[in-house]
Amino acid sequence: MTTTFEQLSCLADHMKEDMVQWRRYLHENPELSFQEEKTSQFVFDTLQSFGGLEVTRPTKTSVMARLIGSRPGKTLALRADMDALPLQEETSYEFASKNPGIMHACGHDGHTAMLLACAKILSGLKNQIKGEIRFLFQHAEEVPPGGAIEMVEAGVMDGVDMVIGLHLISTMEVGTLAINSGPLHPALGNFDIKILGKGGHGASPHETIDSLTIAAQVVTNLQQIVSRNIDPFETVALSITKIHGGAVEGDMAYNVIPDALELGGTVRCFNEELLHSIPALMERIIKGITDAHGANYQFSYKQGYHPVVNDQQIASLVEEALIEAFGAEAVHKAKPIMPGEDFSEYLQKAPGAYFYIGAGNETKGITYPHHHPRFAIDEEALPIGVQAFLHAVFKLLD
Ligand code: MN
Repeated sequence: MTTTFEQLSCLADHMKEDMVQWRRYLHENPELSFQEEKTSQFVFDTLQSFGGLEVTRPTKTSVMARLIGSRPGKTLALRADMDALPLQEETSYEFASKNPGIMHACGHDGHTAMLLACAKILSGLKNQIKGEIRFLFQHAEEVPPGGAIEMVEAGVMDGVDMVIGLHLISTMEVGTLAINSGPLHPALGNFDIKILGKGGHGASPHETIDSLTIAAQVVTNLQQIVSRNIDPFETVALSITKIHGGAVEGDMAYNVIPDALELGGTVRCFNEELLHSIPALMERIIKGITDAHGANYQFSYKQGYHPVVNDQQIASLVEEALIEAFGAEAVHKAKPIMPGEDFSEYLQKAPGAYFYIGAGNETKGITYPHHHPRFAIDEEALPIGVQAFLHAVFKLLD
């Protein structure tokens, strides 16, 4: 490789103005998961304008660009997600969302802008690239089953040897980065439970099978799984997040015991095998309690994303590249967090690493968490993310 580290950093800095412009356009025009039509068209057209890339549409709202280097080598995929969230933006930026009830509140607008910049820079360095770089602009990260699985099924990972991705993090100060080998995001599953009793008058409970008191016992007993059935050295979250039944708010029916009651929630765990054992433990409790009280139940469990587990070798190479580019004091050990991330779907096909780029700035008041109506990023993070990608690319392909 003839491009020096300083040159890569310089190239990233030169892209800042373009990136800010792209990111603001995307921020102003957010689209929900699986509906990223204008977004993907914008990405497609922008990639086409760079030249030297083979740009395709693996699915209706995703885009892939391939850059074949001038010398043979490995194939490395870089991924950005492009979808926004169903939230009403509450920032006062002039580029705030024009689409009511939809907002880029997770930084995916920044991810897309950064990957576009990488594609532009790297397409200009084609002569120095060994192997192939694949730029994956993914739709629908926020909603399981997610866009990654569709892109993988469309073949975007065929022949790929390694994959890397990054996330801007508003709760990490700009200028810091974080990576780790091993587990980073958990595997997850979501569930629905219906308690089927027999409704009646609240004054005659003996003539009913009270789905509500039974559901209350189900809720408390499900807590026993994490506290009593699972090895304390494992990390599991089991949360009941929904409970619906009986008269709706505003109704005057204080005396009606409902026929049925619905519960829902989520399970998260880094150990996928252990996660698969949890639905049976749940059903044993639900069945036991409903049986004990003469009620019935319906239970359904949907497998969500796989866990994101960084490959040790790739993660340490990326970490090395980040430390060389930004200095050891800027590069932290990433701590695993419990939200799911469908970057894991690519990791089912090839080893890789996922890492974090600080995008918060306390002095500028950029401190709101992800998925908040006032979420923001410091745009100074954009060239940092690009540099991180570029340094990682040359480290991994050389
Ligand atoms: Mn996200």
